[in-house]
Amino acid sequence: MPPADPALDVLRSTFGFPAFRGAQRDIIDHVTQGGDALVLMPTGGGKSLCYQIPALLRPGTAVVVSPLIALMQDQVAALTQVGIRAAFLNSTLDAQAARETERAFSRGQLDLLYIAPERLATARCLDLLAGAPIALFAIDEAHCVSQWGHDFRPDYLQLSVLHERFPDVPRIALTATADPQTRAEIITRLGLHTARVFVSSFDRPNIRYTIIDKADARAQLLSFIKAEHDGEAGIVYCLSRKRVEETAEWLAEHGVAALPYHAGMDTAERSANQTRFQREDGIVVVATIAFGMGIDKPDVRFVAHLDLPKSIEGYYQETGRAGRDGLPADAWMTYGLGDVVQQRRMIDSSEADESYKRVSSAKLDSLLGLCETAGCRRVLLLDYFGEASAPCGNCDTCLTPPQTWDASAAAQKALSAIYRTEQRFGAMHVIDVLRGKDSERVRRWDHQNLGVFGIGADLPEADWRNVFRQLVAMGLARVDHASYGALRLTEAARPVLRGEVKVEMRRAVERKRVKASRKRAAAVPVAETLPDQARLARLKAWRLEEARRQDVPAYVILHDATLAEIARRCPTGPDELADITGIGKVKLERYGQVLVALANGEVPATST
Ligand code: ADP
Ligand code: ZN
Repeated sequence: MPPADPALDVLRSTFGFPAFRGAQRDIIDHVTQGGDALVLMPTGGGKSLCYQIPALLRPGTAVVVSPLIALMQDQVAALTQVGIRAAFLNSTLDAQAARETERAFSRGQLDLLYIAPERLATARCLDLLAGAPIALFAIDEAHCVSQWGHDFRPDYLQLSVLHERFPDVPRIALTATADPQTRAEIITRLGLHTARVFVSSFDRPNIRYTIIDKADARAQLLSFIKAEHDGEAGIVYCLSRKRVEETAEWLAEHGVAALPYHAGMDTAERSANQTRFQREDGIVVVATIAFGMGIDKPDVRFVAHLDLPKSIEGYYQETGRAGRDGLPADAWMTYGLGDVVQQRRMIDSSEADESYKRVSSAKLDSLLGLCETAGCRRVLLLDYFGEASAPCGNCDTCLTPPQTWDASAAAQKALSAIYRTEQRFGAMHVIDVLRGKDSERVRRWDHQNLGVFGIGADLPEADWRNVFRQLVAMGLARVDHASYGALRLTEAARPVLRGEVKVEMRRAVERKRVKASRKRAAAVPVAETLPDQARLARLKAWRLEEARRQDVPAYVILHDATLAEIARRCPTGPDELADITGIGKVKLERYGQVLVALANGEVPATST
C-alpha cells in the first residue's frame, strides 16, 4: 500500500484536481507542519489551495484575512460547493447572521472563516478568536500592507497583532505583487522574518501578449473581439470615464454584451454590472482601472487596453486578470503616439514632487520599451521582474517577428522638420509639412517655403506617425505640454541629426492574417466538434440556470474547462466523470446524474 498522503487525497477527492501545481505541494506541507510562509505567486497561480488544504488538515478553523468583501462571498460559495464548511464575517452581514457565524466558529463547526481586516483587529474579534482553536492565519493580498503600493489598506498594518496575540498559530501571507521592495515591506510589517519565502515564476504562459499600432482603436478592438473572442468574457480598460461609457455603448451597438464600470457611476448600477460580469457567461466590462481588484473570475478570456497603462506593474496586474483557469487567453493593447503624449502630460502636470515624477517617468519609459520592442514581449516582462527566460513563442513578436528598418534618414528628416518649424507644433502638423500637404495651417505659417517641406512625401502618413511615436518613445524628441503638445528635440537628437548614430525602427505589422490562420491551425475536424458543441451548449445552459437558482457565479458550479471535457468525453455514467478535473466527491454526488443526462442529449426537467 502506498504511504498515506492526506494533502493529495484532499486535492483529489475534495477539489477534484489530479495533481499539485508548481510550489503548492511544498507550501502546503510547510504550513500544515506549522511553519510560517510568504507566498509570491502570479494571479491564477493557485494561491488559495495553499491555505485551504492546510486548513482542512490541521485541527481548528483557518482564519483568512481578505480585503475584498465582494470576493469573500463567492469564495465561500465555491468552498461550500465542494463540501467545505466555510463562512465570512464582514460588514455585509446583519447582526443576527454575524452572531450565527461567530457561534459556529466557537463550536468548531467551521473549516475556514474569512474576515475583513478592519474587523479582525478589533478587541471583540480577537477575543472571539481566542475562544476556539485556530488552524492558521492566511493573509491574502498581503501587498496591501505596502504604503507605497497602489492597494494600501491602513487596516493591514494592524495585522501584526495576530502574531503577538497568537504566537503559536502559523501564518501564511500571499500576494501576486512581485517586486522586491513590496516583499521586504510585507516581511517587516507583518513580522514574517522567519517565514519561508516561496517565489514562483511570474510567467503566465497561457496569456498571449499582443500590442498593435493604434489606428481606429474602437474598430480595432471590435474586430479583435469578433475574430477571437466572440461571446466570451473580457475586460476592456480605458483611461477616462467618458471613454468607458462611449466604448461600452459603441460595443453594445455592435452586438457585444458590453457594460460600463467606473468610479463615477451610480453605486447600484456599478455593482449590478460587476455582478453580471462575475455571474453570467460572456459579458465584456469596459472599465477604468477602478475595476479589477476583487475580480477573481477564472474564465476571463481577454484583457484589452485602449489606453496605455502607467507602468509595467500596472500592465501586468491588469492583464493578469485574463485566463486564471489556465486556458488560452489574450492580453491585447492598441497603442499610439497620443498615448505617450497623454501619459507624459499626466506626469508633468501632476502635483507630486520631483522624485515621484522621475520614478513615474522611468516607469513609463520601461513600458514604452515593452511596446516598441522587436524582441519577445514575455522575455522583457519577466526580465522586468528579475526573471530570466527565453523567447516564448506565444506573443505577437515571437509569432510574427516585426521587421526592423534603418530609419536613420527618416529620423533625420523628422527631427529637422521639428527644428525648422521652431519646435512649436505637434506631430500632425509636422507630418503635413514633411509630406508637403497644402493645409490652411501650413499656409498660415508659411511652412510651404521651408526646405523640409515635402521631403517626406515618399512615406505615407501612417508610417510617419509610427516614426514620430518611436522618436518620442526612444527619447529623441519629447512632447512639451506647457506649449500645447509641441514636439521638441532632446540632447539625444543631435548625434542622429549629425548622422553619427543609426536609428533602427520597427515596421508596423498587419496582424489579422496571422491570427486567423492560428485559429484554423488549432481547429479540430468538423465532424468531431459539432456534437461536442451542442453538448457544451446544453451543459452551459444548464449551468447558467443552476447558478441563478443557487445565486452563485456560474464558474462556482463548474468551470468551462470541466464542461468542455465532459462534452468531449460524453460519459455514459457518473463513474466516468470522477477523473475529470474539477469534479470532486461532492460535485459528483450533486451533479453527476444531470451531467451524464445532459451529455447524452437528455434535457432533465429539473435538477436537484
Ligand atoms: P490565485 O489566487 O493565485 O490567483 P486561485 O487560487 O484562484 O489563484 O487559482 C486559480 C485557478 O486555478 C482556480 O480556478 C483554481 O481552481 C485552479 N487551480 C488551483 N490549483 C490547481 C491544481 N492543482 N490543479 C488544477 N487547478 C488548480
Ligand atoms: Zn514571445
